[in-house]
Amino acid sequence: MTKDIATPIRTQEIMAKHGLTFKKSLGQNFLIDPNILRKIVSQAGLTKDSAAIEIGPGIGALTEHLARDAGKVLAFEIDQRLLPVLADTLSPYDNVKVIHSDILKADVERAIQEELAGFDDIMVVANLPYYVTTPIILKLLLEKLPIRGMVVMLQKEVAERITAKPGTKAYGSLSIAIQYYTEADYAMTVPKSVFMPQPNVDSAVIRMIKRTEPIVQVIDEDFFFSVTRGSFVQRRKTILNNLQSAMPNGKAKKDLILQALEEAGIDPARRGETLSIKEFGLLSDKLYPHFH
Ligand code: SAM
Repeated sequence: MTKDIATPIRTQEIMAKHGLTFKKSLGQNFLIDPNILRKIVSQAGLTKDSAAIEIGPGIGALTEHLARDAGKVLAFEIDQRLLPVLADTLSPYDNVKVIHSDILKADVERAIQEELAGFDDIMVVANLPYYVTTPIILKLLLEKLPIRGMVVMLQKEVAERITAKPGTKAYGSLSIAIQYYTEADYAMTVPKSVFMPQPNVDSAVIRMIKRTEPIVQVIDEDFFFSVTRGSFVQRRKTILNNLQSAMPNGKAKKDLILQALEEAGIDPARRGETLSIKEFGLLSDKLYPHFH
């Protein structure tokens, strides 16, 4: 086995050898602790029959662990400067393909078809750039890619929101958007000391496994998501008040909102944060005929 990239000394050596500096604007906080990397990768349950998709390989710290455990790694890196570095650091591995692209603009489905044909089990595993974590996760879920799920490192606060359960402060429309598609678990909190340079915020790893059956069937997904977003605009307000502001002509149509709440068996005095995803699904279907 080759020497790990993810140590403080090796990282500094690689940066110096290639004359590299960290680009803060691209969220470049590289991992320098092999133990954390092992823990992240073990969350993904990879075998040599699996493929891994990595967003932002950096200088390859996580990539090499994925290359050891998975059959193939497909990595998307936005920073052109890192391509020759990765070619160097990952030269011991012949099962890594790096694509130079902004993940938000990449045709991931096509890349999967071209690079990962034959792999039935595909996991996204990444230490995400923190300036853009939520758009990346939502893109990968909304594109309905043939992946089993994702294991990602991100800001602790966002990790808590994504995995939050009803009745908690962190629960909101982001929790619902992600948990509608996946079973999301908080795996572990990660100290700042495992990064170079250290980020300003605490970090965490979460695991999201795509649901095989939807948690709730809704008439219209877009409408369902607009109802959930609208229900949390002012967290201290009741679901009735929030919906009156959020629904088109909701103020004039208070009676229809009250009727929908009653049909869904939801007390209008409750707050959005107490409603389960199933209750939001039912409510959205009852509102739909009147407001879509
Ligand atoms: N995986 C490496 C590690 O754990 O040490 C680096 C992780 S670092 C937090 C985030 C990486 O994502 C950087 O390499 C950065 O250049 C890259 N990146 C930032 N924005 C990106 C985007 N939109 N698409 C693809 N990669 C991006």
